[in-house]
Amino acid sequence: MEDKMQKIISLCKRRGFVFPGSEIYGGLANTWDYGSLGVELSNNIKQLWWKRFVKDREDVVGISSAILMNPKVWEASGHLKGFSDPLVECKKCHSRLRADHLRENYDNKCPNCKGEEFTDEKQFNLMFKTFLGPVDDEKSVVYLRPETAQGMFVNFKNVQQTSRKKLPFGIAQIGKAFRNEITPGNFIFRILEFEQMEIEYFIEEDSWQSVFEMWQAEMQKWLVEALGIKKENFVIREHEKSELSHYSKRTVDFEYNYPFGQKELYGLAYRTNFDLTAHKLDLDGYIPHVIEPTFGVDRTILAVLCDAYREEGERVVLKLKPTLAPYKVAVFPLLANKPELVKKAREVFNLLKNDFMTAWDDRGNIGKRYFSQDEIGTPYCLTIDFDTLQDNTITLRDRDTAKQERISISVVVDFVKQKL
Ligand code: ATP
Repeated sequence: MEDKMQKIISLCKRRGFVFPGSEIYGGLANTWDYGSLGVELSNNIKQLWWKRFVKDREDVVGISSAILMNPKVWEASGHLKGFSDPLVECKKCHSRLRADHLRENYDNKCPNCKGEEFTDEKQFNLMFKTFLGPVDDEKSVVYLRPETAQGMFVNFKNVQQTSRKKLPFGIAQIGKAFRNEITPGNFIFRILEFEQMEIEYFIEEDSWQSVFEMWQAEMQKWLVEALGIKKENFVIREHEKSELSHYSKRTVDFEYNYPFGQKELYGLAYRTNFDLTAHKLDLDGYIPHVIEPTFGVDRTILAVLCDAYREEGERVVLKLKPTLAPYKVAVFPLLANKPELVKKAREVFNLLKNDFMTAWDDRGNIGKRYFSQDEIGTPYCLTIDFDTLQDNTITLRDRDTAKQERISISVVVDFVKQKL
């Protein structure tokens, strides 16, 4: 299965989904850059999420808050004290490792040198520090946010007053978060800088169980209906009491079956009224409780790629939902050296380009061009040939069935639209 991961990583690099960060300088461990196809996939995911959970709902509004926040936020939220992982160092090779990962995954042997002696555990805070202004002293320390959630809590009053929402209602945000992970890795699974899509859904305390169930069902529907992830490839796992974060009374993880094991994709937590209480907001009377569905963008991309990846005979195909695919359609003139075909194909290309991300390919034989689009998940390929010049029909080839049919240029835009 590790093999499948290597194939996906290499496809991502070769086709422009994901590149190693700072590659020409030898890289920077666990940083990755999204290429021109990766950014389309990522944007498609974020837009679908925003539409489903903000635009289409009357009870959720969006914000976009700053990454740098007053350090008092992190003191109040408990992150300065509590947002840490247990760190140990291998006495032989000095690798720094997470004690819990060492126990669970490596049988207490160093994964680098197989050493069995480690320093005592100490708590390592995962927040990245930086300095505000020209003086690098303790007074000017600020942190890069480790979650977007606090931006929603500190703006609770502003949002409630301006949007005039009454309980229950939610605040949503998509944005970067940063964690100085001790053992990052597995491609874009655990990285230092990632994106989150989070909702803080404010409620009356006594409704928490039913609202929790509602969001659990919504998250499940998002995975299956919007992303097309197969039901058998993820599970919902209840957190044990000992696993719960400092603010949570109940948490479930949505775990995806990645090629390297079943691991967290999303989380759903009942955060009580811990955060709003901690920030001492001047609310008249009742302090709302909160249910938090949280979705990692990068882990979504990884799960979607793993789920869509297939090897079928000679071809590799990404069976992405058409809504997620970077290109919706590709246009091919049958022969690149026949100006009348190229001209006609350009007309079709321009027609489609208005509505969809459209690829152009005029190199090599048609079979190779199909395979090339299969590998990046383009649902439809259109070929313009000599018959097109006579009757304005083109060959439409379907990625999943590899079937070809002849359709009229006049209906092609509607055809693709219907599939989105
Ligand atoms: P883990 O147990 O894997 O460290 P977590 O429980 O700390 O994750 P949360 O604090 O619940 O994660 O973060 C919310 C979401 O943000 C996660 O469900 C995941 O999708 C994403 N996420 C968290 N940490 C990372 C990371 N280092 N790289 C990529 N995505 C991340």
